[in-house]
Amino acid sequence: MLRKAMGDIDVKAGVLSILSRVEAAYAKKSENSQQPKPLLVAVSKTKPVEMIIDAYSVNQKHFGENYVQELEEKGFNEHILQKCPDIKWHFIGHLQTNKINKVLKVPNLYMIETVDSEKLANSLDSAWGKLNKPDKEPLRVLVQVNTSGEEGKNGIQPSDAVKLYSHIKDNLKNLNVNGIMTIGAFGHDYSTGPNPDFISLMKVHKELTVKLNIEPHQLQVSMGMSDDFEQAIEAGSTIVRVGSSIFGHRAKKI
Ligand SMILES: *Cc1c(COP(=O)(O)O)cnc(C)c1O
Repeated sequence: MLRKAMGDIDVKAGVLSILSRVEAAYAKKSENSQQPKPLLVAVSKTKPVEMIIDAYSVNQKHFGENYVQELEEKGFNEHILQKCPDIKWHFIGHLQTNKINKVLKVPNLYMIETVDSEKLANSLDSAWGKLNKPDKEPLRVLVQVNTSGEEGKNGIQPSDAVKLYSHIKDNLKNLNVNGIMTIGAFGHDYSTGPNPDFISLMKVHKELTVKLNIEPHQLQVSMGMSDDFEQAIEAGSTIVRVGSSIFGHRAKKI
């Protein structure tokens, strides 16, 4: 019963329970909604390799990390490489230009969700182009939008999102821009109404579909975490990033 020593967290049950809640929230959408079935990204930051392997054993393939060094350690970990050969890593943290190569070299890197400037996009494009990796396809990226307008929050302003999106789409051939992402303000009180961050990101979604002539279902929307992924799905999310509800609370809020 080693597992019990890790704080009584049953990761497998956690994944399955979140997946059924995702299904239920999605089932509430109207039948003619074009929203694709949401993808669950299990956010494993600060949590040990054993927990990732546990989650993978119930077929959870997508994992999110927000620290470069931690992603490297886990991505290159021999147990993960051996037991989770088809793992798909999402980088969901703030990415500094000088750390790009470290992230891009991680085996099974699937997506960078946090591209928030032309400079970062250009650097990713050229670094990915130069990288020698087997079976390399254009790198999936999302444009991170600062929907809450809070100072110090990462992400491009909603009014600049279309410009950055079309820059990547038109000019950066090593990147495959797939959609948009927000973190948003913490602790929205749903008794006061829908989450303004979700509304703001869905406005950007709408603007992109109209101005760039993209089919709505071809544009991923990453929003929603442990406390509000069901509301996010109701609002239009196609990627939810859930950490503590699967792996247990983290020592600090990061
Ligand atoms: C930590 C984190 C999450 C998951 O948060 P929980 O509240 O633990 O579900 C999601 N997205 C990002 C960007 C994060 O840093």
